[in-house]
Amino acid sequence: MRKYTLCLFSFCSLFCFSAKAQSAGAVIDVQHYSFNIQLNDKNDTIKGQAGINLRYLKDAGSFHINLVNQKAGGRGMLVSSVTENGKSISFQQNADDVIISTDGKAGTEHQYTITYSGIPADGLIISKNKFGHRTFFGDNWPNRAHNWLPCVDEPADKATVDFIVTAPDHYQVVSNGLKIDEKTLPDNMKLTHWSEKAQCPTKVMVIGVAEFAIDHTGDVNNIPVYTYVFPENKGKGFTSYAVAKEILAYYIGKVGPYAFEKLANVQSKTIFGGMENSGCIFYFEESVGDRGIEELMAHEIAHQWFGDAASETKFSHLWLSEGFATYMTNVYLEHKYGADTLKQRLKADRETVFDFEKKRKTAVVDTTVHDNYMVLLNANSYQKGGWVLHMLHRKLGEEAYWKGIRSYYTKYNGGNANTDNLRAELEKASGQNLEQFFKQWVYTGGAPHLKYGWLYDEKKKVLDITIVQEQIHPFEVSLQMMIGNKMHTFDLKNKMSHFEIPMTLKPTQVLTDPNVNLLAQFKQVNYVQIMLENKSPF
Ligand SMILES: [Zn+2]
Repeated sequence: MRKYTLCLFSFCSLFCFSAKAQSAGAVIDVQHYSFNIQLNDKNDTIKGQAGINLRYLKDAGSFHINLVNQKAGGRGMLVSSVTENGKSISFQQNADDVIISTDGKAGTEHQYTITYSGIPADGLIISKNKFGHRTFFGDNWPNRAHNWLPCVDEPADKATVDFIVTAPDHYQVVSNGLKIDEKTLPDNMKLTHWSEKAQCPTKVMVIGVAEFAIDHTGDVNNIPVYTYVFPENKGKGFTSYAVAKEILAYYIGKVGPYAFEKLANVQSKTIFGGMENSGCIFYFEESVGDRGIEELMAHEIAHQWFGDAASETKFSHLWLSEGFATYMTNVYLEHKYGADTLKQRLKADRETVFDFEKKRKTAVVDTTVHDNYMVLLNANSYQKGGWVLHMLHRKLGEEAYWKGIRSYYTKYNGGNANTDNLRAELEKASGQNLEQFFKQWVYTGGAPHLKYGWLYDEKKKVLDITIVQEQIHPFEVSLQMMIGNKMHTFDLKNKMSHFEIPMTLKPTQVLTDPNVNLLAQFKQVNYVQIMLENKSPF
């Protein structure tokens, strides 16, 4: 997802709850969800019936399904029954989950039906849009789905999903996958059935229910692309959202086939700038306006490959979603607007990384966060993650980098991956050992703070350059410097590095990292000062 005009962190306290999801696949592995949801215009109570097909991973006397119970104040979900083949099964509902008693045997598959109702405390946003019309929008990231859907609410347990929504017939319903049925019901009600055949994490399973103007923007490689905007925004919305086709085509060419059946881009009430629901991306309400949303769309559409199709195993590897979405956006905009655009964006991202480093010193793979995952929506996951990919791109070269990215996507499409899985694919594609690279950039906090000075020795006809790594742990990096009109590459490894470059004349210029290829801060100082400070003999 994408933070946008709002400061997301101010929302944190509203959504800080502990997710007591079982560890990935510990007892059960969900295969398919079939969510029947009834909505109405009189009140915010939803009635649900969740069909859950699952496979037991071990013999079990019970298993847990996440669902937020009704709390004082009335919000939350109350389960009225759990059945298997029409037969009631005993269950216990706790604050955050339902414990279902079974006699499951390892390897067997079962289908359970959970019937429930209540007013969602979160996860399904029921409100009015800016034009005063009532709307319903799922907004599940990171683990808010279980406020309205009984599920295993963690990215590792992916499943296919059907949404069968009954709502007043003045609404259109959009969801993941393809619409396979729509029919009118008595009393001005309508049933809409969407079915998603690709494996999705719960964070991206949604419905959007509103009065929409809908445009079939066109097809890309047989994937239909749609725009759903509020009717009042139809003119501008249809035009500005149409850029999605161009982005989709670019990513298919670069990374591989699109995993989902269609791509709908939907104006919504998401709390984020954009939310990458699979095949059904939600954008913030003000996304239709004078300001274009190409950049935001490029971010969310990139997530369809990275996050949705190939999902991180755990939120500690969130950069495999957000770093990719950040860098793919930069690469797309470079492709469209030229190399200077990429450089400008990388410079801005680099500044954001160093500003953030003053506040939080954790690694990109941040294992210190266990429940409030909103904390991970930070510059480490986004901008630094993006920079890590940029440096890999430069280190491995065009061919090996994209070969590695494509094989990573091909291998983990429909499944889950962690950072080591990505490393393995890039190593295979390039033949390079990337252990040190990943160790310093992804598993350790911080980045190089480089202080450098230079002096031209007229007598010896030599340029002396000294570079000091001011941060605690020295990095192994290559620094490019444009000296005069020639590019030099310096390999740095130690706290202090000294280089002597023969040259007949004093250089007219010494530029550090002119092509913006290193995530580092640069500070030029007087050469004598740097030598004195570091107590090095001349
Ligand atoms: Zn994102």
